[in-house]
Amino acid sequence: MTAAHPNPPLKTVTIVGGGTAGWMTAALLSRLLLGAYTIRLIESAEIGTIGVGEATIPAIRTFNGFAGIDEFEFVRATQATFKLGIEFRNWGGVGDSYIHGFGKIGQDLYWLHCHQFWLKARAAGDARPFDHYSLNTLAARMNRFALPDPAHPHSPIADLDYAYHFDAALYAAFLRRRAEAAGVERIEGRIVAANRRGQDGFLDHVVLADGRTVDGDLFVDCSGMRGLLIGDAMGVGYEDWDRWLLCDRAIAVPSARQGPLTPYTRSIAHDAGWQWRIPLQHRTGNGHVYASRFVSDEAAARTLLAHLDTPAIGDPRPMRFRPGKRLRAWEKNVVALGLAGGFLEPLESTSIHLIQTGILRLLALFPGRGFHPADIAEYNRQTDFEYRDVRDFIIAHYKVTEREDTPFWRYVKHMEVPDSLTERLALFAASARFFLHGSAELFREESWVQVLLGQRLHATYDPMVDMVPAEQATAFLHDVEEVIGEVAAGMPTHEAFIARHCQA
Ligand code: FAD
Repeated sequence: MTAAHPNPPLKTVTIVGGGTAGWMTAALLSRLLLGAYTIRLIESAEIGTIGVGEATIPAIRTFNGFAGIDEFEFVRATQATFKLGIEFRNWGGVGDSYIHGFGKIGQDLYWLHCHQFWLKARAAGDARPFDHYSLNTLAARMNRFALPDPAHPHSPIADLDYAYHFDAALYAAFLRRRAEAAGVERIEGRIVAANRRGQDGFLDHVVLADGRTVDGDLFVDCSGMRGLLIGDAMGVGYEDWDRWLLCDRAIAVPSARQGPLTPYTRSIAHDAGWQWRIPLQHRTGNGHVYASRFVSDEAAARTLLAHLDTPAIGDPRPMRFRPGKRLRAWEKNVVALGLAGGFLEPLESTSIHLIQTGILRLLALFPGRGFHPADIAEYNRQTDFEYRDVRDFIIAHYKVTEREDTPFWRYVKHMEVPDSLTERLALFAASARFFLHGSAELFREESWVQVLLGQRLHATYDPMVDMVPAEQATAFLHDVEEVIGEVAAGMPTHEAFIARHCQA
């Protein structure tokens, strides 16, 4: 006879909320917990979901893989397009455009990275556009797309990296079908109360408007910005980051499908914020994220509508948010995921990613009935690191700019930023060198390099580059550009790729 585990498994997981966070959690847990747990999800059609959140980063492919999702079926079901990166317009200076592409930049020579040689060429006045050294970026500029091809390990096509744009409502519906088929019980109803146990303060059950109660051993709070369980019931506070991230409102409106479909998100900086444009197969998503201290709601709406590529569909929808995060994502038997756990503006499409890493972390530290404080503390430590890491990258887009043409841009250009970011910017300015602060950092060297150079940070190249003979350095850059140009030109257009592989 085997001895009982001292921390026996719990039985019931109750997910509160059926937005992207709730259904991602339900879809993954129902698949990976192998039917050993009862999983329920409560949602309220009356309250609805936030209805935005349509641009992702490449790690979504890992999530979809774990969830057993077929890629082309997913693209069809969610009217998705492929995403090679993000174009930033007017960020470093008015009239600028650069792309943060997901893949590699060229290749290394010895231990020196491609951007170092490019910076030296630029200093000598003979650099070609930086876009020419990244396949992701060049293909995005040319509206081309292909899948990475591991069969050609020495070609840049092997390192192409990509994510998706998708319709948030269709993605939630797609995940819901899968989760329900895997046995998740969906409960429709509006929660009006959440009651804790007297003896230990754990959450015991929630009460629905019609009087039904739903209990659980573990509760996952995916109730959106309100944080119904983590905030209202468990009393966990919120850390505000509005001294660095000034944008606190958004207004969103879909518009007619544009053509040709671009394989990238566009972010256009405005006087007191920025506007996204997300191309989907059936429509375009648009929204203006702005700082209410610097622009009125009416003016923000006018700016949004004035910069649409295609006619708006319906009325713009306003939203408010608080940049920051919960002090603790996991408290007793409640774990907050999605907007209930925090909010970082969608400049680098990181929120859905943070949901995904939150679910995987929950699985890695999955509690038993004992709910070990050490597991909870580790979960909270990792979550905290992740949010701060993404926060710094987003702040860098505002801090590193030459813009001073409006009060908003003057403020962000001269604001104090977290020490972790100040140190990183100083190191990069000195010799364009970059090092990770921890292996869990989401954005790697390629991302920082493209954003910092794109935002016009004045960086000097690494003096070690001078050790490479000038002709060798020139030939190296030329070869990288030539190979990337040839591969990009051989890729199908984004539209042709979707038509061939992903249309019914
Ligand atoms: P919600 O979608 O708000 O879902 C909350 C759920 O809880 C709903 O089902 C609701 O009915 C339920 N609920 C709430 N209260 C109750 C109650 N009392 N009783 C019963 N049920 C209840 N992320 C990205 O990754 N990429 C992007 O491009 C991006 N763009 C964004 C743009 C904006 C302007 C904003 C605000 C966010 C954006 N995000 C983006 C974030 C993204 O939208 C969210 O992370 C994602 O949609 C998850 O939301 P959620 O499921 O946590 O919350």
